[in-house]
Amino acid sequence: MKGTHVHEVVIVGAGFGGLGMAIRLKQQGMSDFVVIERGDDVGGTWWANSYPGCQCDIPSNLYSFSFARNPDWNRAYPMRDQILDYLRDCAERFGIPPHTRLNCELLAATWVADAQHWELETSTGPLAARVLVAAPGLLSEPSTPSLPGLERFRGNAFHTANWDHSDDLSGKRVALLGSGATAVQAVPEIQPRLAKLHLFQRTPPWVIPHMDHAVTGAMRQLYRRLPPLQTLSRAGIYALRESMAVGITRDRRWLKAQELNARLHLRRQVPDPELRRRLTPDYEIFCKRIILSSKWYPAIQAPNVDLVSSGVRELREHSIVDRDGVEREIDTLIFATGFKPAELPIAERIRGREGSSLAEVWNGSPQAYLGTTVAGFPNLLFFYGPNLNLGHSSIVYMLESQIAYALDALGTMRVHGAAEFEVRAEVQAAYNQELQERLAETVWNTGGCGSWYFDRTGRNSIQWPGFTFEYRRRTRRFDAESYRLAAPMGAPAAAAAPAA
Ligand SMILES: Cc1cc2nc3c(=O)[nH]c(=O)nc-3n(C[C@H](O)[C@H](O)[C@H](O)COP(=O)(O)OP(=O)(O)OC[C@H]3O[C@@H](n4cnc5c(N)ncnc54)[C@H](O)[C@@H]3O)c2cc1C
Repeated sequence: MKGTHVHEVVIVGAGFGGLGMAIRLKQQGMSDFVVIERGDDVGGTWWANSYPGCQCDIPSNLYSFSFARNPDWNRAYPMRDQILDYLRDCAERFGIPPHTRLNCELLAATWVADAQHWELETSTGPLAARVLVAAPGLLSEPSTPSLPGLERFRGNAFHTANWDHSDDLSGKRVALLGSGATAVQAVPEIQPRLAKLHLFQRTPPWVIPHMDHAVTGAMRQLYRRLPPLQTLSRAGIYALRESMAVGITRDRRWLKAQELNARLHLRRQVPDPELRRRLTPDYEIFCKRIILSSKWYPAIQAPNVDLVSSGVRELREHSIVDRDGVEREIDTLIFATGFKPAELPIAERIRGREGSSLAEVWNGSPQAYLGTTVAGFPNLLFFYGPNLNLGHSSIVYMLESQIAYALDALGTMRVHGAAEFEVRAEVQAAYNQELQERLAETVWNTGGCGSWYFDRTGRNSIQWPGFTFEYRRRTRRFDAESYRLAAPMGAPAAAAAPAA
C-alpha cells in the first residue's frame, strides 16, 4: 500500500450514519474524506428494503436529520421511498457525491501501528485513513434460517431485505416466514393478489392501531413558511416517545395502557375467540419491538390466508412441510426473518492493534464504549454499535449523537496534536457493567420473550437501557480522559497528553 494517500477519514456505509457524518465533516470544512458503500446507491436500510409496505414506525418529523428538515413529508410516518428520496437529496444538497464510492465494499481494515493509520482493502482497490468511521448499520445483514431441504426447493425464495420485484406474486401460493415488523407491513400489501398465503408465525406480536395519516398540503405549506412549527412538532413527538422509556426501563405500570390498547385492538379486529387466543402474545408488551398496524389482523383473516403456528420441518421441491407433518404446495417462499445484528461480517474484517479482528475480540457478544469505540482498535469510530438500538425512538437521533462525539474526537486530536486515540479497557469494562446492570431491570430482559436483542452468549448487546437524552449528554463531548492519546511517532510523548 506504499504510496496510497492517507485520507483524514474513511467512512464505511452510506445510510443515515455514514451520510450524516460526511455532511457534518463537509460543514466543518473538511474535504479529505471518502465514503465507501457496497450498494449501488446511498440510503442504507432504506435503499436495501424495498418490500411492499416498507415504512418507518417513527414519525417523519422526528425520523430525519435535525440539520436537514424536510417540510415535504407527505405522511405522518414516512414510507420507504420518501425516506430514500430524502437521503439522496441530503447527499446532493450537501455535496457528498464527489466523496462517495458506490459499489465499493470494505473487505479488510488493518491498523498499522508504526504508521498510525488504517490500511483498507476494498472491492475497488486500496485506501488508507487516519480515522475509520464504520457505519455498516445494525440491521443490514439479512438472517435466513437454514431449513432442511431448502436447496431442493424449486420455487422462488427471497428475503424481504432483497425483495424480488420480478416475482409479481399474482395468483401464486406463497409461504411467508415471520410475524415481526416486516411481515406485518408486507402481508396486507401482498395478500389481496395471492392465491394462497401460508403465514408461518412463531410468536404473535403485540400490535397497536397505526396513527399514520396523510400530511395535508396546507400543513406542508405551514411547515415551509413557519419552520419553528415543525420544530415544535418534532419536540412534541420526541417528548412523547421518551416517556415510553420510563415504562421500558423503570416502571412497568407505564406499559399497561399500551397493553390495554393492544388487547382492545385485537378484540375489535378479531371476532373469533380461538383465533384471538392464537394471536395473543404470552410475553410482556415492549419485550419485543411493538408493532403498529391497523391492517394486519384484517389481512390475516382473509379467506386466502392460512395461519401456521407449528414451525417449518422441511422444504420439498414444490412444497413446505410444517412440524405437524402437514405439507402445503407453494410457488414462492419469503423470509421475513429479520437480521443478524450481533454477527456483522464487517467485524471479521476490522483488525486492531494486536492483529485480532473485532469479531474475535467480541466472540459473539459485541461490546464498545458508548457503543462507539473499542479498546485495542485505535482511531475507530463504530456507528449504531453495541447497545445503541432503541425500542421507543429514532435511531437517527442516536446517530447524530455519535456524529457529534466523532467530530469532537477529531477536534481533540487536532488540539492535542494526537495521532491516535484508543479507549481505555477499564473504562469500556465499567461502562458495559453499568449497562448490563441497568438492562437486567428492563422489559427486554425480564418480559419473558426471546428476541434478537440477545446475542449467542445470551447477553443483551443490542439495546440502550435509558433515555436518548442521556446518551446525547454522555456523547456531547469527547472525554479524552477515558482514552489513551498518542503523539505522532517521533514526537515528544507530552505532545498528546490527555486532557486533565
Ligand atoms: C425494515 C427496517 C425498518 C426500520 N425501521 C426503523 C424505524 O422505524 N425507526 C428507527 O429508528 N429505525 C428503524 N430501522 C433501523 C434503521 O436501520 C436505522 O434507523 C438507520 O437507517 C440506520 O442507519 P445506518 O446508516 O446506521 O445503517 P444502514 O442504513 O443499514 O446503512 C449501512 C450501510 O453500510 C453498508 N455497508 C455495510 N457493510 C459494508 C461494507 N463492508 N462495505 C461497504 N459498505 C457496507 C450497507 O450496504 C448499508 O448501505 C429499521 C431498519 C429496518 C431494516
